[in-house]
Amino acid sequence: MWTNWAGNQHADTTIACPTSIAELQKEIAQPQTLRVLGAGHSFTPIVAGGDRIVDLSGLDLPTIGDVEQDRVWVNANARLRDLSPALADKGLAFRNLGDINTQSLAGAASTATHGTGREMPCLSAEITAARLVGANGEILTTDDIPLEMVQVSLGMLGVLTETQISVVPKYNLRRQVQLCTVEDSLATMHQNWAENRNFEFFYIPFTGKTVELRHAITDAPEGKAPRDLDMIAVKVLKLARSAGRVSEGLRSALLKLLTMAQSDEDYVGESWRVLCSDRHIPFKEMEYHLPPDVAVDVLQELLTRLHRDHKNIYFPIEVRQTAGDTACLSPFQGGPRISIAIHTDAGEDHKRYFGAIEPLFVEAGGRPHWGKMHNLSYKDLSVMYPDFDRFCALREQLDPQGKFLTPALARLFRP
Ligand SMILES: Cc1cc2nc3c(=O)[nH]c(=O)nc-3n(C[C@H](O)[C@H](O)[C@H](O)COP(=O)(O)OP(=O)(O)OC[C@H]3O[C@@H](n4cnc5c(N)ncnc54)[C@H](O)[C@@H]3O)c2cc1C
Repeated sequence: MWTNWAGNQHADTTIACPTSIAELQKEIAQPQTLRVLGAGHSFTPIVAGGDRIVDLSGLDLPTIGDVEQDRVWVNANARLRDLSPALADKGLAFRNLGDINTQSLAGAASTATHGTGREMPCLSAEITAARLVGANGEILTTDDIPLEMVQVSLGMLGVLTETQISVVPKYNLRRQVQLCTVEDSLATMHQNWAENRNFEFFYIPFTGKTVELRHAITDAPEGKAPRDLDMIAVKVLKLARSAGRVSEGLRSALLKLLTMAQSDEDYVGESWRVLCSDRHIPFKEMEYHLPPDVAVDVLQELLTRLHRDHKNIYFPIEVRQTAGDTACLSPFQGGPRISIAIHTDAGEDHKRYFGAIEPLFVEAGGRPHWGKMHNLSYKDLSVMYPDFDRFCALREQLDPQGKFLTPALARLFRP
């Protein structure tokens, strides 16, 4: 039985592991439906639900192919954590990355995975060309299918085998982490995004405190990274939540101790090592990408509802910004967006919290992360994206039999 990282998606289907393009074409030629697996880090049913799953991690392609100045062909199914050191060997790096790097490039790009930075586009926007195997087994490229359709396509237009990505010379980042009040973070966040290459903050529930993170490119030599205590902090937050069931005062006292123990960080490291962390405590997540001018109001209302109605929640709220791009299904299509992510323990009910907050995100003009939980359907999505119907028409044309379609995807991409 296959399960995703969070354990909320399952598939009791065979997993094929082709090692060559010819074997992949044979898999696609089978009559049953098929979904491609990246690293299984999506929370939504976008891998499970078909007759078969294909795992391309063993595909016989070089991690790095042709390099043309700031553009490099890579194995689309390589993990980001393997691509970064391979690029660094050539003096290159991703412009930006998200919180983790265990995803495959194809999986991450297919859902518009992003990091943070007002001038930093999501990973999909870094794809400049691609090679795919289509629903009939034919080899397709971005000369056949428009690039802006392929960049964010959830494996519905074809199976990505190689992608050309835009890269930058490798660089070091100075990371600064500090504790703030939520009032200050809300009041200064736009200025912080204007002044910092990468800026984000986490709100720690029921403390009134945030942790702000800033990254800047530096020529300074690498230092020693402090021990990553994020996962210990999450355990203490859970403990405090449990204590709060006995006494609210006990929860407040534990949270106060936690915020007092939060020490500032300031160190320099190689970009991909600084940007990405390990996440070992499974959670479920909903993230919406909002027009920047509504984000403060939405955050304030979110905090009101959290504090009033959701005392069980202990996972922090993450706030980031991503530059606009031109991919048809990119949530950042048309301009920058501020992303607000809410989380619950993977083993606990998420429906009450996510269900109470989602309408707030939607009414404010938010678009959901494709890999994170939402309750939208074709009717909702088709009015959120100017090119949604154009994408759906192309999907139908390229895959009329629905080889790459599942009932869950059909609810999103068929009228
Ligand atoms: C702990 C954790 C941290 C995260 N942090 C971030 C973050 O910082 N920023 C962010 O934006 N998201 C984040 N995410 C979400 C994650 O980046 C996305 O859900 C991403 O899609 C997962 O990549 P994956 O390789 O696991 O792909 P999967 O989840 O396995 O697949 C995603 C989609 O890509 C398709 N796909 C995979 N390979 C191919 C291929 N070769 N050709 C065509 N389609 C393909 C799949 O069929 C599926 O539709 C996080 C998730 C977790 C669990």
